[in-house]
Amino acid sequence: MRAARLHEYGKPLVVEEVPEPELGFGEVLVRVEGAGFCHSDLHVMDGEIPILPVLPHTLGHENAGTVVRVGPGVEGVKEGDKVVVYGGWGCGRCRYCLQGLEQLCLAPQWVGLSRHPGGYAEYLKVPHARYLVPLNRLDPKEAAPLADAALTPYRAVKKALPYLSPDGYALVIGVGGLGQYGVKLLRLLFGGGIIALDINPDRLERAKAYGADFALNPKEGGDPAGRILDLTGGMGVVAAFDFVGSEETLTLAVGVTATGGKVTQLGLAGGAARLKVLENSRFEVLFEATLWGTVQELREVVALAEAGRLTPIELEYHPLEAINEVAARLRRGEVGGRAVIVP
Ligand SMILES: [Zn+2]
Ligand SMILES: [Zn+2]
Repeated sequence: MRAARLHEYGKPLVVEEVPEPELGFGEVLVRVEGAGFCHSDLHVMDGEIPILPVLPHTLGHENAGTVVRVGPGVEGVKEGDKVVVYGGWGCGRCRYCLQGLEQLCLAPQWVGLSRHPGGYAEYLKVPHARYLVPLNRLDPKEAAPLADAALTPYRAVKKALPYLSPDGYALVIGVGGLGQYGVKLLRLLFGGGIIALDINPDRLERAKAYGADFALNPKEGGDPAGRILDLTGGMGVVAAFDFVGSEETLTLAVGVTATGGKVTQLGLAGGAARLKVLENSRFEVLFEATLWGTVQELREVVALAEAGRLTPIELEYHPLEAINEVAARLRRGEVGGRAVIVP
């Protein structure tokens, strides 16, 4: 089968022929029909997160497709089932896995990011049927981004729900693929105002179309912190979601969060959050960096999408052969929503 593999950090992926995976006990083979290309893939390719135990390696952690074969002992899924593949695989034995928090496993086995090859290939071997979330109405290539681009903001928003009182405002910093799903999910789950912030006017237009009440561009109209405080009557936002994670955006998020509010970091741009009580933050501000999501949360996201309540952001589809062009376009900020590889 064909797969796009990383042979060397800092180099493009190589589309090449590799052996088709063989199935052991309990394993499932999925024909990949959609594999979302994630910004973290760029960080991995660049060697900024050198987590891959062996190279060459097949990336791709946002996958969906059709079950083509099941190994011995597999129950609950069968050939022909359309599925989204949960990607935060864990060891199954540590205290986090035992609580259903597999993405937080002490020995992560994340698909496409650990020793397990990912979905930039014709077929994907999945170690257990519990990682497969069935699809009914949805097309796998449309559902693939749910596995990360929607799941990651879903967990962040869900964990912030106790803070999101409808008489307050939420702030979304960075409206790329994840941020766009973040705005949509907030609009579904939160009755208050949404302020979106990005330096890209096109993205701000999308944020408004997806339910943001205010769209701020820090390059225009002056100091964003002052404008956010004005919009919120000086109180600040009840919850801030930073999908960028730079020094600058984290400082902004901490600085404009209301007393008793919450700052959630999702973006990994390398900034450090600085929170000094009685200096740069209001009283009782909580900071949390959420990570990906659980299988159960993916089921909830898929249920919202199957019901037509969570609609996709703008998706573009590309063959496996075009994967390096996709990477280059994402790097240049030219992907409006999410690029999905269709191997
Ligand atoms: Zn990702
Ligand atoms: Zn574990």
